[in-house]
Amino acid sequence: MIRLTRRAALGLGLFLAVFTVPPSAAKEAAPFGLAVHGGAGVIVRAEMTPDAEAAYRAALQAALDAGYRVLETGGSATDAVIAAIQLLEDNPLFNAGKGAVLTHDGICELDASIMEGRDRRAGAVAGVRYTRHPIALARAVMDQSPHVMLVGEGAERFADSLGFERVPNEYFQTERRRQQLERAKQRDEAAARAAGGPGAHASSADEFSIPDLAFDAERKWGTVGAVALDRSGNLAAGASTGGMTNKRFGRVGDSPIIGAGNYADNRTCAVSATGHGEYFIRVGVAHSIAARMAHAKESVHTAAAAAIADVAALGGTGGVIALTREGAVAMPFNTPGMYRGLRFSDGRSQVDIFGASP
Ligand code: ASP
Repeated sequence: MIRLTRRAALGLGLFLAVFTVPPSAAKEAAPFGLAVHGGAGVIVRAEMTPDAEAAYRAALQAALDAGYRVLETGGSATDAVIAAIQLLEDNPLFNAGKGAVLTHDGICELDASIMEGRDRRAGAVAGVRYTRHPIALARAVMDQSPHVMLVGEGAERFADSLGFERVPNEYFQTERRRQQLERAKQRDEAAARAAGGPGAHASSADEFSIPDLAFDAERKWGTVGAVALDRSGNLAAGASTGGMTNKRFGRVGDSPIIGAGNYADNRTCAVSATGHGEYFIRVGVAHSIAARMAHAKESVHTAAAAAIADVAALGGTGGVIALTREGAVAMPFNTPGMYRGLRFSDGRSQVDIFGASP
């Protein structure tokens, strides 16, 4: 049975939607399943064509089905997360892999991370430019290196040493993202001029001192992520992203930061986040949800909603998907929409985009 509850939250004119799906009482002995997200942001029905909505829904469903097939046939939560995320990385609709947003210099720099709940092993990469599936490289860091995080050129050399598929950066770049970058540059330059008076230019200081203008409503976060629970009762979480449009200077967001954009611990939950990464790092969103559950004995729903409220209190926007070993799922966000869905062995199956739709 699916129960959907939504609460309007006050503050900053945004609302907090909590998508609560309790596990069925009639579940089989070993429930398994997964949830995915494809980013949060100003995603409203009035601005989306029926064709676009259908395409997003189909992509989320395909990712859920790919992950579910892995779990159904006895695969691990990690395998399911990788299968779901790789499909989304290949889909240009999302800000990960092909179709990732462009940096100020017009290229794609990709971040990804993965974590396992059983023993909290983790792997992450940041600023990679030529690896087709950054989430697979993050897994290789976890499985085949003694490290947790590799960045840039070094991460790419590690990928080469393992024989990973290398693609030109142009493979990731799309026309839609080029136009988005141009608009973002014009907006940021206008905002910097407004902030600094006539003749001011968009210096690095200006950019970072006007976050509310620089990261305005037109920017939809399109990071992808997944959390999964396998037949053995193990949790895993993953995230993959191109970061933020017009980013500079090697900027890295929360998605590859273990504890910020991603966390998994069998004792509490698996979490994958999307949103304005700087705020998610400052709050330590993903780990804070697990910590609230462990120490304050909060439910996953209470803990996840509290973390997003904490982000909102600082002025940030975004959302998370969080999953427990019992199969409870919380998907709070404080943006108008979040691409999201779940599929579980007890019959729960849902894909949703907007905050106010049934
Ligand atoms: N969290 C990502 C970042 O800040 C962006 C997103 O979620 O789309 O890099």
